Formats: sequence, C-alpha cells, structure tokens
Amino acid sequence: MKDLIIKTISGRLDEFFKLSTWLYEHPELGEKEYQAAALLSDFFEAEGFAVERGIYGFETAFRASCGGHKPGPHIALFCEYDALPQIGHGCGHNLISAMSVGAAVALKEILEEMGGTITVFGTPAEETNGIKGILAEKGAFDGFTAAMMAHPNVITEESGTSLALCALKFEFIGKAAHAAAMPEKGINALDAVILLFNGVNALRQHVPSDVRIHGIITDGGVAPNIVPDYGAAKFYLRAKGKDTLASVIEKVTNCAQGAEAMTGAACKISRFENAYDNLRTNQTLSERFTSNLKILGEEKVHRASEGIGSIDIGNVSHVVPVIHPWIGMGNGELVIHTKEFADCTITDQGKEVLYKGACALALTAYDVMESEDLQRKIKEEFIYFCQ
Ligand SMILES: [Zn+2]
Ligand SMILES: [Zn+2]
Repeated sequence: MKDLIIKTISGRLDEFFKLSTWLYEHPELGEKEYQAAALLSDFFEAEGFAVERGIYGFETAFRASCGGHKPGPHIALFCEYDALPQIGHGCGHNLISAMSVGAAVALKEILEEMGGTITVFGTPAEETNGIKGILAEKGAFDGFTAAMMAHPNVITEESGTSLALCALKFEFIGKAAHAAAMPEKGINALDAVILLFNGVNALRQHVPSDVRIHGIITDGGVAPNIVPDYGAAKFYLRAKGKDTLASVIEKVTNCAQGAEAMTGAACKISRFENAYDNLRTNQTLSERFTSNLKILGEEKVHRASEGIGSIDIGNVSHVVPVIHPWIGMGNGELVIHTKEFADCTITDQGKEVLYKGACALALTAYDVMESEDLQRKIKEEFIYFCQ
C-alpha cells in the first residue's frame, strides 16, 4: 500500500509541480486568492472529490472530500495559497497546496480498501487574517481524527510550537484646535498614542521572556499647526500560551486607558485581524511523519525549535490533533519571506520538497488509517493536552 502511495505521487509529480508553478506565477494576496481557489477546486472536482466552494462565507475557501465506503478515520489536509505583497510566494504556499494535492490524490487510491475519509481544506489568508482560526471556531474540524500539512522552509524540522497572537488597534479621538493660537481648546490624540507606546515600553521589563509586543503608528495628525484630533496605532501581542497572552492584553489595554486619562482623548480598542492560538503539535503523529520522511531519504530532520512566529493552524491544534512540519530547501543562505525563497520553489529543490512532503503526508495518513492503536494514542495525547 505504501508503495502504491509513492508510485502515484512520483508518477504524477510533474502535474503537481506544474500546479505549484502556476500558483507561483499568479500570486494573490490573502482573501483575494480567487484564481488559486478556483484552480484547486477545479482540480479536486476533476479528480472525483466532492467540492464545496466559498465555505463558511469565505469566497476563497473550499472543502474537497473523498470517502471510502468503509468507516475509518477522518483526516484533514490543508492547502494554503496566499502570497506576500511584492514578494509573491516567498513563504512557499504554492508548494503547500501542491503537497496536499499530491497526498490527497494518492490517498484517494487506497480509500476504497482502507475506509475513512480525506478532506482537503482550502484555507485563505494564512499570512494576515488566519481563516483557519475562524473555521476552527465554526466547527469545521470537529470530529476529525487528525489534521496535517507540511510547510517549506530553509531546513527540515519537526512540527513544533508557535506563538499565540492578538492583533489590537487603538484609536484615540481628540479635539482639533490651532496648535499655536488656541492650543488650550485642543485634545491631542497623537500624545495619547505616544503615551500608549511609552506605557507599553515600560511594561516590557515586566512580562515573561516569550512575550513579543510590536506596534506601529498608523495615524498621528495631518499638519503641525493643527492639534491632532485622531491618532491610531496597531499592535501585535504574542506569547507562548493563551493565558499569558490574555494577561498581556489586559496590561496593554490598561496602558491605553492610562493614555486616555492623561490626555482626555477617548480610546477605542478593536481587533483588526483574527487571533492566532499557539500551536500544540501532536507528538505521536509528528513521530510518524518524521519516520516517514526518513524512509523517503531525508537524512537530517532537526528537532523542533521554539516557535517565534504565529500560524493559524495553531487554532486548529486546539480542536483536533495537528502537525505542521517543515521541509527544507536552499543552500543554507536562503531566507524565508524573500523573492529568492519564492524562486527556489520552482527549482528542482522545490520539486524535491513537493515530492517528500506529499509522500510523507500521505504515508502518515496511511499509518493512521491502518492502525487503531495509533488512532487511540493520538487521541489520548490530544485529550491529555486539553485538560
Ligand atoms: Zn509566511
Ligand atoms: Zn507560510
């Protein structure tokens, strides 16, 4: 059965690589991935998957399912296909899509005999609005046995952790006045923003070392001779766990309220992007993936490092057992989120990542389908985590 999986993927590798290259040539930003979602949905439809487009109100999200006639585990794979402004596929999401396509196509071949269901989710805006988080919240992954994807990177590394993230926007409403002639009539919204930054900077000394707080001023007045009546800032707050993040959100909110009290500029706080939860890797599943990668000839699989970014599969990992391993390419000097990284996805090295990722995903899914004992261990670990 494992041979059949590998044979299917190697036999159709050029086709999957062509799909990835097409996505590279047609990069689209988060929630605007109309062509990518259409291409992938059409592909799955032609392969005999049941495809639903525009799921949960997201125009560029889709779900493609294929079930055997026998009961069995329900496994989710993810396609990501959003690109970065000006850089294109500098995060290699074109390869992510192609890897999940390859894995799903190979698994379809064995579903009849193995039983169970494979569902590929097309999930927009990983780089910005984290649509997986909303899908998780709406119950899209309820009842799944496991959810998997693989991400290109500069080294091959086990699935690890990522930081929980909250995106906060602070707006201050002041009062305009002539800044020289009648300053006493004004309320300075820019001062409120600056005081917020000063408060946050004082707070830095007193938060755990995994906390990251970084912000920009988006509005700070229109002319020096007018007291700014509107000021705004956007912040990303991050921490390893949701509880720490909640306390940081509270403290930064207090800073904003302090700035409001000091200046009299009314403060409005909102979330400008969806929140990302921290990633909790299912180690049982991760070990299977790593061992399959090694069988495929990947010599060095680095141990998981401390995640310092935030990814929207983090939210999924709180409702279903998840892995998000990394597969490396480049000569050691490659940097992710660059044009060079995007270019590497369409080289032979990119093709190799696609081959290894698609095979390892499908082989791992097969391991889960084949062993009730493995299914039980994955579930037990997940339940233990949730307690
Ligand atoms: Zn990225
Ligand atoms: Zn990415």
